[in-house]
Amino acid sequence: MLIDSLKFSREQQTTRGTLPVEGMARLRNSLYSEAAAVPRGDDAGQGDLAGSGSLNYEVSGGTDSRDRPVLRLKVSGTIGLQCQRCLQLLAYDLALDSTLRLVPAARLEAEMSDDPDEPDCVAASAEFDVAALIEDEILLALPAYPRHEAGKCGGAPATEFASGAGRSKVTAFSALEQLSGLKQKSI
Ligand SMILES: [Zn+2]
Repeated sequence: MLIDSLKFSREQQTTRGTLPVEGMARLRNSLYSEAAAVPRGDDAGQGDLAGSGSLNYEVSGGTDSRDRPVLRLKVSGTIGLQCQRCLQLLAYDLALDSTLRLVPAARLEAEMSDDPDEPDCVAASAEFDVAALIEDEILLALPAYPRHEAGKCGGAPATEFASGAGRSKVTAFSALEQLSGLKQKSI
C-alpha cells in the first residue's frame, strides 16, 4: 500500500481499510500465539487468532497548525498479547490516533523534537508505505509489560484458544524436561 505522501497530505486524501495482523511480521513477534509457540499445524489456535486478527485503519492527509504537511493515523482493533503475570492470553484493545509530520528524509534527524507537544516526524516519500507506518506505530504503542487488570489473571473465563494453547505449552514443556532428564541419565 504505497502513497505519494506529500501529495496525499496536500490533497487531504483519506484511505481506510483493514489490515490482517498476519501480514505484519514484526508485530506477530509480540503476539500471544508466537510467545506461546503454538504449533503451525494447530488449526484451532490459528483460526481463532485470525478471527481477531484484523485491524481497522484510517490514514488522512492534512496540515498542522503551522501549515506543515501531516498524516493522521487511526488504528483500532483487538490483538492477543501474552499477560506477563499469568502468561495467559490478554485481549488488548488498540486505539491509536497519532499525527505524524512529513519531512524530507534528509532532514528527519534534524526535525525530530523532544517536545511532547510536537508531532513525531516521518520521512516523506513518493512511495510511502502506509502498512509499514501502521505497523511501526502499533509497535510503539504496545505496552512493554502487558498485564491483565489487577485480580483478573488466570481466573478470567479463557477462550478455548487460550486454555488450549496454555495446555499444549505446558505439555510441550514437560515433554522437553523429560527428554533432557532421560538424556542426562543415559550419559
Ligand atoms: Zn494475567
